[in-house]
Amino acid sequence: MSEVRVGLVIEDDQDIRELVRVVLSQAGFDVHTASTGSAGVLSARELNPDVITLDLGLPDIDGFEVARQIRKSSDAYIIMLTARAEELDTLMGLEAGGDDYLTKPFRPRELRARVEAMMRRPRASSDTRSAPDEADPEMAHNGLSVSAGSRTAVLKGKELKLTRTEFDLLLALLETGRIVRTKADLARRLRNEPYDVGSYVSDADERAVEVHMGNLRKKLGDSIQAPRWLETVRGVGYRLAPPVQSN
Ligand code: CA
Repeated sequence: MSEVRVGLVIEDDQDIRELVRVVLSQAGFDVHTASTGSAGVLSARELNPDVITLDLGLPDIDGFEVARQIRKSSDAYIIMLTARAEELDTLMGLEAGGDDYLTKPFRPRELRARVEAMMRRPRASSDTRSAPDEADPEMAHNGLSVSAGSRTAVLKGKELKLTRTEFDLLLALLETGRIVRTKADLARRLRNEPYDVGSYVSDADERAVEVHMGNLRKKLGDSIQAPRWLETVRGVGYRLAPPVQSN
């Protein structure tokens, strides 16, 4: 069963739009393009893309707002393309719902590598009925239940709307419990690499993990001081908070 993967390129610069379109086509995507933010939001709603590349400097709506609007209806993997290497832009982009970012000018090979790493990450398996004896790895912690198979997280009877990146980070902590995961470990996890290969992780990639964790904490309604799920280990990384006695 091969489902066509859909890509959406939101970019007002024609040359860059064409470049990105070609890269995604070569990676096997059915690619659509939009040259304004509002057209991009509409296309995202209609096409339900797997991957979106989003230029931050668009003529009508800025890319941050475009990301926020897309996130209301989409769990697409959003790669922000920023014209400046300013860290603030990058972090704001991730806070607005982006998963990853690249600074222009970027190498097509780099973009393709990011997209392919993302596509190797597991997706929801709701469309494939698993055999009854094939257990869905489901985990529960302090009232939160997470199913790795269907990629859902439920708290107080409500399903949380997590991005793929947020879900993967949550799952990583649940899997290792009280063992501290460094930011570099988690960044590698997002690239779908083994933890111990020691591949290069930049400061910006570690900061990105912090931003995603901050977004996840907000969605969980978790507290920094008395966490139920995400415990920050200062200067190192994160681990799962200890279980609390329910009363
Ligand atoms: Ca632009």
